Amino acid sequence: MEKTIFQKIIDREIPADIIYEDDQCIAFKDIQAQAPVHVLLVPKKLILNVDSFEDSDRDLAGHLLTKVSAVANAAGLQQGYRVVANCGSDGGQSVDHLHFHILGGRKLTWPPG
Ligand code: 5GP
Repeated sequence: MEKTIFQKIIDREIPADIIYEDDQCIAFKDIQAQAPVHVLLVPKKLILNVDSFEDSDRDLAGHLLTKVSAVANAAGLQQGYRVVANCGSDGGQSVDHLHFHILGGRKLTWPPG
């Protein structure tokens, strides 16, 4: 199976501006930022999207959610931020490897497009 672009970043086959990494996840700047700060938090395990979480992923899911604030802090988002997980074609997902967008650095509007 062809590696996802995020797997290539995890494997250091393509460069990325990495701001956090541990044994289970990695966070790097989005190449097409939609806000002054736009970071992607990605599990090292290949999970398609939030719809594909299994019971055995419970610890990893918890780990990812607890790392959101650490990543947001490291990115300087002390005034708040938005966490987004696009899921499937209607959800606007373009990379088939679970990722949380962490966006901030300006006042974000609602609803999204
Ligand atoms: P999605 O559309 O699946 O929710 O989000 C995928 C995100 O990955 C997009 O915001 C896109 O800009 C980002 N992206 C795609 N390719 C690359 C890449 O090679 N490097 C980085 N850093 N981000 C990427």
